[in-house]
Amino acid sequence: MTIAPGEAAFPGESDEDLLDVSVVVTPGMPIWEGDPGLTLERVMSIADGALANVSELCCGVHTGTHVDAPNHFIEGAPGVESLDLSALIGPASVIEIPRASPAIDVSALVGVQLAGIERVLFRTRNSELWQRPGFQRDHIVIAPEAARLLVSSGVRLVGIDYLSVGSPETHRILLGAGVVCLEGLDLQGVEPGRYDLFCGPLRLDGADGAPARVLLRKRAKVAPAHERPQ
Ligand SMILES: [Zn+2]
Repeated sequence: MTIAPGEAAFPGESDEDLLDVSVVVTPGMPIWEGDPGLTLERVMSIADGALANVSELCCGVHTGTHVDAPNHFIEGAPGVESLDLSALIGPASVIEIPRASPAIDVSALVGVQLAGIERVLFRTRNSELWQRPGFQRDHIVIAPEAARLLVSSGVRLVGIDYLSVGSPETHRILLGAGVVCLEGLDLQGVEPGRYDLFCGPLRLDGADGAPARVLLRKRAKVAPAHERPQ
C-alpha cells in the first residue's frame, strides 16, 4: 500500500488529519551519492511452492526517511539504539522556509518562534525534489550557525525534507548536542503549523542511522472556552 502525504495511514480509519511524511522505500528511490543502493526482492514465494512469501531487504541505514545517530559523525558516540525515545514522539512544528538557498541560515530563522519548540521540521523546496528521479545535489541544508541557534534554543529533534541536514559540521553540532537529525522527510502538501510527531526508527544495534516511519497528526484545535469543561 502506498500512502501519499495527506492520506490516512491506516485503512478504515477516518483520521484525515494523520499524515504519512515518510518516503516510499523502493528500488530506484533517490539514495545519497556513494551510499549503498537498495534491493527489495522476494526470495521465497508461495507461487513457487514455498510455505510463505519472504522478501529480503538490503540497503544502507541512511535510506529514505531516516534518523542519524551520534556515531554517524562522532567516532565513539552512541548508536541509533541509544536515541532518547521521548525526543522522537511529541509536539512538533512544521516551519516553512520557502526562500532559503542554498542553506537555512540564521537570517532565514529571523522571526521564527523557536522558544519552547522541541521538535522542528523544516519544509523547503526540497520536498519537490522527491518528484525527480535519482539523487539531487541542489538540496537545501541547514547552515552550521543555524544549527547552533537551534541547539541553543533547546530543540531536541530537527527534520529536513531531503537526505541531509547539512555539512559534517552541521551534523556534529546537532548530534554532539544530542539533537536527533531526522532526514528524508516528504513534506509536500504539509501545511506549516503544530503537529504531533511519531517517529519510529528501527532498533538497529550500534548503527549510525536507521530508516524510520514518520507520521504527523494535526494538533487538535483548542475548543472554544464555552465548550471546555469547567
Ligand atoms: Zn543520515
